[in-house]
Amino acid sequence: MKETYDMKEALRKNLDEVIWNIEQARISITEHHIVKLVAVGKYSDEQSIQTLYELGQRAFGENQVQQLNTRMQNLEEFPLEWHMMGHLQSNKINKLIELRPSLFQSLDSLKLAEALNEKLIEKNQTMNCLLQINSAKEATKSGVSIEEAFDIYQQIQEACPALKLKGVMSIGAHVEEQKVIQQSFEATHKIYEALEKKGASICSMGMSSDYELAIKCGSNLVRIGSKIFK
Ligand SMILES: *Cc1c(COP(=O)(O)O)cnc(C)c1O
Repeated sequence: MKETYDMKEALRKNLDEVIWNIEQARISITEHHIVKLVAVGKYSDEQSIQTLYELGQRAFGENQVQQLNTRMQNLEEFPLEWHMMGHLQSNKINKLIELRPSLFQSLDSLKLAEALNEKLIEKNQTMNCLLQINSAKEATKSGVSIEEAFDIYQQIQEACPALKLKGVMSIGAHVEEQKVIQQSFEATHKIYEALEKKGASICSMGMSSDYELAIKCGSNLVRIGSKIFK
């Protein structure tokens, strides 16, 4: 029992700290800038996710369809909002559609969009998505290029009626220099601003190491794992 209690207190402390930092960062722009927190459970277990729910957190993310599936099933009794945020292999498309995530954050190519759209139409379903942009220009990251992002977003809107594009997602540059990370966030935010005219309302940027900077660059959704669960 003591162990459970300690775990809950540790999670409460982490969550409080993250929420406090989000508040400070968003207020530094304007009080009207609202930021959503998605807790990423991939380093954690279902017990911790349930505890975080008891502490008031509702939105959770996973980066693997299999893990998302298991957790959605095992935590079915709780009214959680689930986000998928990892590269989707084409053989997992049907599974993801079946799971009906609240938001699929990592739509990373026109090809994937077309394949997903086709399957969704067959099943008479739609899916909320974010277009992932590889603004750090790192070969290890998926996503469309900064140069192509605007056009691809429009192409998907025109060609894929079952995909409801809500905005963009990006992972900050994986480097030490804050300046370089900031530039990658600014590049994403610039595209987001242009896409607001096309209906975009979500700019998902920022993880444990860089969420405050991301918010200062205009992010309105942060995806945080290790800072909460470790
Ligand atoms: C794991 C992951 C996160 C959270 O990472 P942390 O650095 O632990 O906060 C956010 N976004 C994506 C896409 C991830 O895969």
